[in-house]
Amino acid sequence: MGVNSKLLTPYRGRFAPSPTGPLHFGSLVAALGSFLDAQQHNGSWLVRIEDLDPPREQVGASASILRTLESFHLFWDEDVLYQHQRHALYEDHCQQLLALNRGFYCSCSRSQLKGSHHIYPGTCRNHLQPQNSPCAIRFRIDDEELCFHDQIQGQYCQHLRKDVGDIVIKRKDQLYAYQLAVVCDDHAQGVTHVVRGSDLLDNTPRQLALYRALRYPMPCYAHLPIVVNETGQKLSKQNQALPLSQQDPRPTLLHALAALQLHPPKELRSNNLDDILLWANNNWNPSLLSKQRSSLCPQHLL
Ligand code: GLU
Repeated sequence: MGVNSKLLTPYRGRFAPSPTGPLHFGSLVAALGSFLDAQQHNGSWLVRIEDLDPPREQVGASASILRTLESFHLFWDEDVLYQHQRHALYEDHCQQLLALNRGFYCSCSRSQLKGSHHIYPGTCRNHLQPQNSPCAIRFRIDDEELCFHDQIQGQYCQHLRKDVGDIVIKRKDQLYAYQLAVVCDDHAQGVTHVVRGSDLLDNTPRQLALYRALRYPMPCYAHLPIVVNETGQKLSKQNQALPLSQQDPRPTLLHALAALQLHPPKELRSNNLDDILLWANNNWNPSLLSKQRSSLCPQHLL
């Protein structure tokens, strides 16, 4: 069945980095795309630090990401929100989903699920009470195809039960899962437009399933091309993406704009950041990126 994103006004967009390392070129492109989209709609642009998973985080990364955004003149509206301060909201949603019979307790170990190729086979679907051993909480996925229209990638469909199975919303180690937290926070912050990297395209139906179960209005989505190296891998801390220098951001900003198919005229390229961003704001056009899933990183920024 199809799911139509509802256009809510006023526009509220966001950039939601996980502080696993400093900002690199790939995350700058995602930040810039969502910033320009919000600016062009005269909307608000929020920054949310997704610090849900302390073992994966790097000390000082949140502050460094925020400083780098500022050095590129990507200034956000409202206070930065930190997910580590929002556990009560996530717990409340877990309890709501359990009460709606959309959540269940799962005591399966990794080794029990080993042969299932990352598709949850439904082993604990009838466990409505916590078991004696530590439990995760999973969200019960309906047996149907879920489709949505992405403003860049077009129509995207997934049969979640077949491809993914019931998803974890609270882990066995009691950490809340990204899929749950992102929905709770986008809703709580009134986010109307999610503009982010295409690596998250196939996570979106899971999030839409949660929106539906919670009866929350769904945001509009646009998944930007992700920046890849010459072997097609997404830039990330794991493949040694360089942290962005905060000195002389202009050439890097121009490369990031090029990754979004924006090529300011020659005479503007030596102007200040604000002039370049103003031009980009006037010229931002997500349809130039139509169906583009990736963009190659300039060699010197790898
Ligand atoms: N925190 C996620 C990441 O850094 C992004 C989440 C999102 O934009 O929905 O990959």
